[in-house]
Amino acid sequence: MPKPTKRTLDPVLEAELKDIYAEIERRPLQRECMLRTGCCHFRLTGVTPLVTMAEALFAAKGVRASGRVKLKPHPDGTCPLLGVDGKCTIYQHRPFGCRTHFCQPAGGPYPRKQVADLIQRLEALDEKLQHHEGSRPFVAALGDVLH
Ligand code: SF4
Repeated sequence: MPKPTKRTLDPVLEAELKDIYAEIERRPLQRECMLRTGCCHFRLTGVTPLVTMAEALFAAKGVRASGRVKLKPHPDGTCPLLGVDGKCTIYQHRPFGCRTHFCQPAGGPYPRKQVADLIQRLEALDEKLQHHEGSRPFVAALGDVLH
């Protein structure tokens, strides 16, 4: 496996990451997201998604695809990728944490045991990237790979 640059994700690794994300959708865990976006207001919830390096690189691709080259911090601590219309601006590229963390009215976060195998696959991807530092807070990790 060729070592990717720090800024982009090798197509083979990207395909594996997309398969992990697709597998989440295939799991029969009922959740009713009503687009309240509370989970995107990190300071309110006190919870910031953690991401692997592969996820940060994939999210960066989404940021660039939306025409931006860097993040503008939100003054109230909201995710800088939440659009003014209340929708995620990188929805197809959003990380695992955003796909599995739901507020209580929507059904609550996915139980870890239901997705532990997928977390292991995410970690294995970072091994292939030779990134051994583990997951990091989303906005900081994304900012680093966008620089
Ligand atoms: S990436 Fe999208 S879904 Fe995730 S916290 Fe930011 S705006 Fe919300």
